[in-house]
Amino acid sequence: MNAVERHARATPGFEQRLQQAVTLLRQAADAHPGRIVQTTSLGVEGMVITDLIARHGLAIPVATLDTGLLHPETLALLPAIRARWGIDVEVFHPHQQAVVQFVRHHGELAMRDSVALRQQCCATRKLEPMARLLAGRDAFITGMRHEQSSERQRVSAVETNDDGRTQYNPLVDWTWADVWHYVQRHDVPYNPLHDAFMPSIGCAPCTRAVAVGEPFRAGRWWWESADEAKECGLHARHTAPLAA
Ligand code: SF4
Repeated sequence: MNAVERHARATPGFEQRLQQAVTLLRQAADAHPGRIVQTTSLGVEGMVITDLIARHGLAIPVATLDTGLLHPETLALLPAIRARWGIDVEVFHPHQQAVVQFVRHHGELAMRDSVALRQQCCATRKLEPMARLLAGRDAFITGMRHEQSSERQRVSAVETNDDGRTQYNPLVDWTWADVWHYVQRHDVPYNPLHDAFMPSIGCAPCTRAVAVGEPFRAGRWWWESADEAKECGLHARHTAPLAA
């Protein structure tokens, strides 16, 4: 049974949530012409948003980070996106020298030695290239949803972060069933690792499958226990919700 068969379900309120997501994306594109981007990790929520952007002809480019440690299944989505929607995803990489130095000093799997080293790895491979991705842009779109973690339950549909950028989260109130219902309806391509019980997919050394009943992000940095710690820092600086 694949992820669509396992999770897709039409639930009350879906059409309204879908319409709200489209409306928010339109407002975002209109408010920040030429200065907005969809940041996607190429997970299923990101694929749904890319489909919404393409389907509704919104002028929002799509960008991602290639940390150098992604699964081949994740990287295979880049040509799949080009084939499906004609979109060339902007790909940002970490500085090679910084990665080499980190691995030389701390080892290939240093991220499992301590939270500090894990955060240092994320800073090198994710935060620095994300800063370049966002440079010159004053707004971005994510696939964050309330269901994903207790930390994300506090996220609003529109927020501003500490550096003044506006963050749009059009799927914030979507359920996991909603996401897969949309995938089924529009035959959206998705990472086959979702079929292998990986609801949240990051770098290969830091992602594992989850068991039935485990939290959504339990497979991320699973050697760390606290739910609140299961963030890489990309979404850790947001304050001052603007609107729901
Ligand atoms: S998710 Fe893991 S491998 Fe990827 S940047 Fe963070 S610590 Fe490093």
